[in-house]
Amino acid sequence: MTSLTQTNFIGLRRVSPEKHSFSGVTSKPSFTSRRFSVVAGKFSNKLAGRNLRVAIVGSGPAGGCAAETLAKGGIETFLIERKMDNSKPCGGAIPLCMVGEFDLPLDIIDRRVTKMKMISPSNLAVDIGQTLKPHEYIGMIRREVLDQFLRERASAAGAAIINGLFMKMDIPKQPNAPYILHYTSYDSKTGGAGEKKTLEVDAVIGADGANSRVAKAIGAGDYEYAIAFQERIKIPDDKMKYYENLAEMYVGEDVSPDFYGWVFPKCDHVAVGTGTVTHKSDIKKFQVATRLRARDKILGGKIIRVEAHPIPEHPRPKRVSDRVALVGDAAGYVTKCSGEGIYFAAKSGRMCAEAIVEGSENGKKMIGEEDLRNYLKKWDKKYWPTYKVLDVLQKVFYRSNPAKEAFVEMCGYEYVQKMTFDSYLYKTVAPGNPIEDFKLAMNTFGCLFRSNALRKEMDKLSAHV
Ligand SMILES: Cc1cc2nc3c(=O)[nH]c(=O)nc-3n(C[C@H](O)[C@H](O)[C@H](O)COP(=O)(O)OP(=O)(O)OC[C@H]3O[C@@H](n4cnc5c(N)ncnc54)[C@H](O)[C@@H]3O)c2cc1C
Repeated sequence: MTSLTQTNFIGLRRVSPEKHSFSGVTSKPSFTSRRFSVVAGKFSNKLAGRNLRVAIVGSGPAGGCAAETLAKGGIETFLIERKMDNSKPCGGAIPLCMVGEFDLPLDIIDRRVTKMKMISPSNLAVDIGQTLKPHEYIGMIRREVLDQFLRERASAAGAAIINGLFMKMDIPKQPNAPYILHYTSYDSKTGGAGEKKTLEVDAVIGADGANSRVAKAIGAGDYEYAIAFQERIKIPDDKMKYYENLAEMYVGEDVSPDFYGWVFPKCDHVAVGTGTVTHKSDIKKFQVATRLRARDKILGGKIIRVEAHPIPEHPRPKRVSDRVALVGDAAGYVTKCSGEGIYFAAKSGRMCAEAIVEGSENGKKMIGEEDLRNYLKKWDKKYWPTYKVLDVLQKVFYRSNPAKEAFVEMCGYEYVQKMTFDSYLYKTVAPGNPIEDFKLAMNTFGCLFRSNALRKEMDKLSAHV
């Protein structure tokens, strides 16, 4: 690591040339050829002779979207990704609003799901796409395709892309001093081992997913997590036809005590998976049960990939520390019940970057923790109710087989479907109709009451056996 050799009152300092020669950095050449770095002086937070410099670790949807927004907003942006062709284990379902809001080209959407089957513990299937309008659908994407698209768009906006594995960072001890990121660069021609490098920046965004090293570096604390297991299965063409625009969700203690099993259509195969928070060591057993439930429809299929990954259950205790912020899975933004995180990752990356652009007046000023807290305030105001509602739903409906049976029965109501799809597709809490809300409350009690009565009968029966 290079030490600073000169610092005068306005903070002009000499930096050794190799520090800024990032091999593999694919941004504008001006980023790579600087000999001098100028930072604001002690008494001013205006940056002299350069713009604010921000590093983002991880280029999933959170990192890609953050990088694009920063670069467009006049920030000198560095996006560090360990694996450029990373295919994140993921179902790949995205809400319709994401396509417009993030200006996604339609050709990266492999399938448009317009039908969804919710299948109860007793294998009662309810079709829940009935209220969709002709133009509405759930998009199915491949993560390697989406992530690459977002990264390339960030690069075109001016972000420097670094193929490197972030290892750790030195936290500054002085106000306004830089963060020093240590990473292994895979761009050099030295073979597979990579080369140790450092990068100095004013602020850091941790978009490095559920096992975030940035979160560790700032002592952000842990979160409870689910483990999700997924098999990609290539099924015969006639079977694939069935899943052309259909996704299935299975609930029941056999497939998961606290989550759901799924069959999602991908480009030329299906993804079959399940998850659990409470019984992680049984995940393979739940996967076998999910496959069993769908067996007739995936018969003759060949497993082409097996993958597993943690899914955060709630935000980390700390999401911002000084000039470091966490976004996406690193922050813990996945909704309970559904396990949805792609949209929230992209959105949080963008919102965090917007707060930095605004706070730094388009890169002209140093930012502080307060600027990053503005992102948190906006985020929590916008999404806290969504997370809370899904949390309650999970507690009420995922606690036993009878409750799950009731849940599927509820999904049969047109009003429930409309509210659910509107909230999912457009990410707004759909305004309710008071009469329908009342009926829904009565129906909910009815379903729960029936399923409870059913459970008591089942308990009596098993006591006699
Ligand atoms: C099996 C499964 C199925 C899912 N299905 C869905 C679904 O259908 N729909 C949905 O909305 N959500 C789904 N999710 C959740 C979704 O995948 C995540 O919420 C989403 O990927 C979060 O995006 P992110 O950008 O925050 O993090 P990630 O997508 O995890 O991206 C993190 C990036 O950081 C990189 N990285 C990590 N560490 C380092 C490091 N040290 N140095 C450099 N780079 C690093 C990684 O290579 C990766 O590219 C699913 C999750 C799982 C596990």
